[in-house]
Parts: sequence; C-alpha cells; structure tokens
Amino acid sequence: MAETARMAVFHGAGKPFEIREYPVPDPEPGAALIKVALANVCGSDLHYWRGELDYAKMGRPLPLNTGHEHVGRVAKLGSGVTTDSAGRPLAVGDRVAYRYFFPCGRCRACLQQRTKSCPVRQANWLVSCEVWPHFQGGFGQYFYLRPNHAVFKLTDEITDEMAAGVNCAFTQVYAGLDLAGLRAGQTVVIQGAGGLGVYACAVAREMGAGSVIVIDGVDERLALARQFGADEIVDLREHRTPEARVKRVTALTDGWGGDVVMELVGNPSVVDEGLRMTAPEGTYLEIGNINIGWKAEFDPAWIIFGNRRILGLAHYEAEHLRGALDLMRRTRTRYPWDRVVSHKFPLEAINDAFVQQDKGHVTRAAIVPN
Ligand SMILES: [Zn+2]
Ligand SMILES: [Zn+2]
Repeated sequence: MAETARMAVFHGAGKPFEIREYPVPDPEPGAALIKVALANVCGSDLHYWRGELDYAKMGRPLPLNTGHEHVGRVAKLGSGVTTDSAGRPLAVGDRVAYRYFFPCGRCRACLQQRTKSCPVRQANWLVSCEVWPHFQGGFGQYFYLRPNHAVFKLTDEITDEMAAGVNCAFTQVYAGLDLAGLRAGQTVVIQGAGGLGVYACAVAREMGAGSVIVIDGVDERLALARQFGADEIVDLREHRTPEARVKRVTALTDGWGGDVVMELVGNPSVVDEGLRMTAPEGTYLEIGNINIGWKAEFDPAWIIFGNRRILGLAHYEAEHLRGALDLMRRTRTRYPWDRVVSHKFPLEAINDAFVQQDKGHVTRAAIVPN
C-alpha cells in the first residue's frame, strides 16, 4: 500500500475545503517533492474562494489543490537534481524556497528569457488533484516541484515564518520595483497595506526610495507598514474620497506624485486615483487586479500627456526570487519579516483561516499542514 498524505481540496467558490488523502508521489527525473512547512492564504486565494476569480473560465478543473505562497523542506529528490538554482548542493531535509509555477523552457517567451510570460507556467493547476502527482498546491502536506523548477536553499538566518511569503507576495513586489526601474531618491506610493503592501514598503526602502507613502484604512495594517519603513500614511478613514487622497499624495510630493505607484488592492475602483497619483514619466505598477473581466475607467489622456506608463506584472523571473531572499537575509534585523504571518491554523482549520483572512484583520493566515 503506497504512503498517503493529506491535502485541502477546493471544490469551488462558496463550498468548504475538504481534507482528503492521496498517494505521495515519487518525483520523476528533474523534479522534487517538498514537505510543506507553512502555506499562506494570499489575497489571490481569497479571490477564487469568494468566486471573484472564475476557475472555469481559466481552464482550471475541480477539484483542485490550491495554495501557492509556501515554504518547506526537501522530502525527495528526482534523479539529476543535486543542487539548488544557485548551484549549492541540495539534499533531502534542506529547507527551501521555490517558485510555485513552472515555465516550460521551450516556448517563445521562455526562449526570450521572459519565463514569467510562459503561457503554460501554471500547468500544475490545469489538472485536477485527482490526477498524479496530486500535490500541486501548497495547502497540503506535500508539494510537487515539477521539472524546470527554481529552488533556493534557505540558511537558518531565514525562518519558515519569514520565508512563507517570499515566493509570492515578497518576490512579486521585488520584481515589480525592479522592472519599474525604481531609482534612488524616488517616491513610491503603495495602494493597499496587505501582505504585498507591507513587503513593498521595505523593498522600496532597500532599493533606495527617497519616500514611501502607503494608503490603507486598517490600524493593524498601517502599524505594520510603519514597521516596514513607510514614511507617510494616507488613512482611508481620514481621506475618504479619491479626490482627497490624490490631493494628499500630491501635497506630500511637492505636487509631483509618485514615481512608482503600486496597485496592491485588487479592486479596479482604485486604478483611476492611482494613475492620478503617478508622477510625469512615472510608472503605475498593476499587480493586484487579477480578477478577469473586472473593468476600470480612466482617462488615457492623463497617461499620454504626462508620459506615464502602466506596467502589468504577474509572476517573476527566478533571479528575482534569489535576489529577494538575499535582501531578506541582509535586512533580517531591520524589519520584522516574521510578523507578516500573523495567525497560524492547522490544515483541518483551513476554512476558518479563509474566513479570518477575509475579514481583513489578519495580515497573513498561514496553514501548518504537517
Ligand atoms: Zn499570491
Ligand atoms: Zn514556456
């Protein structure tokens, strides 16, 4: 009888996760099996859970093993895998961070070294958890790291609590600020102080931002943003309209605006005001609005006459993950990286974790599957 392990199975919006057991896969050549230590409930998990993101339209079959923001330990190595993606020896038992998506390596995007645009990079979610290797997401005891993965060994300086948010939220904002071309002394404006937003404060700071301005309206989130290096807070409860918020950001930047404005809210209603906060020649970095079909209204002339640009970003290059981990290691005493994971739940309590995170007073709920 093959060894089995537990996972939380997603049956569609409005339905509770179900705990099921599946056979533990043996990795094929070039693959690896991870024993998951912590798996966070990310903002994008809430989108499909609430039904805002339609998996049927995305070609994702149910039931599905979801969860993408996680960290773990090598449980089994497929043949040929002897090092991590930085060339360091890799062995069973090593703690690792890894990309949760798998660019194919042979398509037009991959061959241009733009692997974040590989059309099949999320192939792990184009098959149901009923199909081998079953463990295709983070909400389970194991995660199957397909061939063409990117994996980096963690030193003890980075704890599981610190690393849990690295492979999605942290590296996503790191890649965004890198690709936006943030330069020393520039102003970064952050819409939304959830997990992405608080990470963005510190990453912007470390990349040389002269000023970091954060917009949110929840005390716990704003307090954490401060600890992560935010200089100015625009409190939604005080500045209640888009016009008032644009006015406030404009005043805080001597009439210039943010050189990089990051949309990390996930609602198209904030796009117009975000663009209005963007400086001439500045970049509006669109990361949060992943709900397909949701539309924003804005005035394109504002982009043209200010020589502004909108930069969309989903996923990142492997080098971004390496750089993000190194940034975290170097700044481990400067920021409370472990504080982003604010609450932990056993796998069996995953439904409660989603409810709590949905209420917004939990920065990141983390599932502890093992
Ligand atoms: Zn995520
Ligand atoms: Zn590809």
